[in-house]
Amino acid sequence: MNINEVYKELSNIIPEEQLLRDESMKDHTSFRIGGPADLMVLPSEVEHIRHTLKVCQKWNVPFMVMGNGSNLLVMDKGIRGVVIKIANTFNGVWIEGCCIRAQSGALLSVLSKKALQAELKGLEFASGIPGTLGGAIVMNAGAYGGEMKDVVARAKVMDAQGNDFYLRNAELEFGYRTSYVQKKGLIVLEAELALSPGRYEDIKAVISELTRRRQEKQPLSLPSAGSVFMRPPGYFAGKLIEEAGLKGFRIGDAQVSEKHAGFIVNLGNATAKDVLALIKVVQQRVKEKYGVELKPEIRVVGEG
Ligand SMILES: Cc1cc2nc3c(=O)[nH]c(=O)nc-3n(C[C@H](O)[C@H](O)[C@H](O)COP(=O)(O)OP(=O)(O)OC[C@H]3O[C@@H](n4cnc5c(N)ncnc54)[C@H](O)[C@@H]3O)c2cc1C
Repeated sequence: MNINEVYKELSNIIPEEQLLRDESMKDHTSFRIGGPADLMVLPSEVEHIRHTLKVCQKWNVPFMVMGNGSNLLVMDKGIRGVVIKIANTFNGVWIEGCCIRAQSGALLSVLSKKALQAELKGLEFASGIPGTLGGAIVMNAGAYGGEMKDVVARAKVMDAQGNDFYLRNAELEFGYRTSYVQKKGLIVLEAELALSPGRYEDIKAVISELTRRRQEKQPLSLPSAGSVFMRPPGYFAGKLIEEAGLKGFRIGDAQVSEKHAGFIVNLGNATAKDVLALIKVVQQRVKEKYGVELKPEIRVVGEG
């Protein structure tokens, strides 16, 4: 692979401290799992992203985009090619009336805090989701009755050829944990969130209540990627897994959480192989017992 040539060309316009060679993905995922990425790019300008796409195309090197790594299972041999990490080097936020405009690397927790400070309501549901705006739009992230579909007015995206354009809410084709952006492999650059005026105390009370519920139910002190499976129509994945007797079931250091059976947690040195084997056991048992197919919500990337 021409990764050295890619590095050389990228370093013409991207500062070297934003180009990381053989970067361990354990340090970039909430699961704390994953082998090294050949080259990680931390863009701080749209042109860094466009340039990276062009250079990868020129040298025929694969690339993928990530945000905060909170919905990713990276395989143990890591990722060949380039990982464009759109997170804390690309996270500008602007309040414009009742709208929040932000770059895609801004964290949802930061955005919901800014909305609170500006007395804007509508983003309370997102306060505890540990992802970026871009990752949340791709996944149509949601919680406690709210989802990105309810707040995104429009998003600026880029295709693999480096063309950028806007997509309005209806064009983003949001569905349960899916979007047009996900289906077409587009890159989210920026988005505008349409919120409405609210009272500081009311917004704060909702965020506090949702935080309390999350802390009570979810294993937040252990590394995970959140809910492993999508909600099967008519059921709750966690409840089915618990009733199948799998709470606490463990392969290596990957364990079905004792606190919430919809989560798999890393007890220390779990590998992606352990997690995938555990996912398989859970799927088989739930299928045998209830005839329900559990589909993973987490995105598996890299080489095993
Ligand atoms: C403790 C915990 C709790 C969670 N709770 C919730 C919850 O309540 N609701 C919920 O929906 N999710 C939840 N999640 C999952 C996760 O936080 C969300 O899916 C989040 O939206 C992922 O954002 P990210 O930036 O971490 O994306 P990543 O995990 O980095 O990437 C996810 C996907 O988005 C793509 N992507 C990321 N950024 C971009 C971009 N700028 N452009 C194009 N593609 C991009 C990646 O290629 C990948 O396919 C939870 C996770 C954890 C660990």
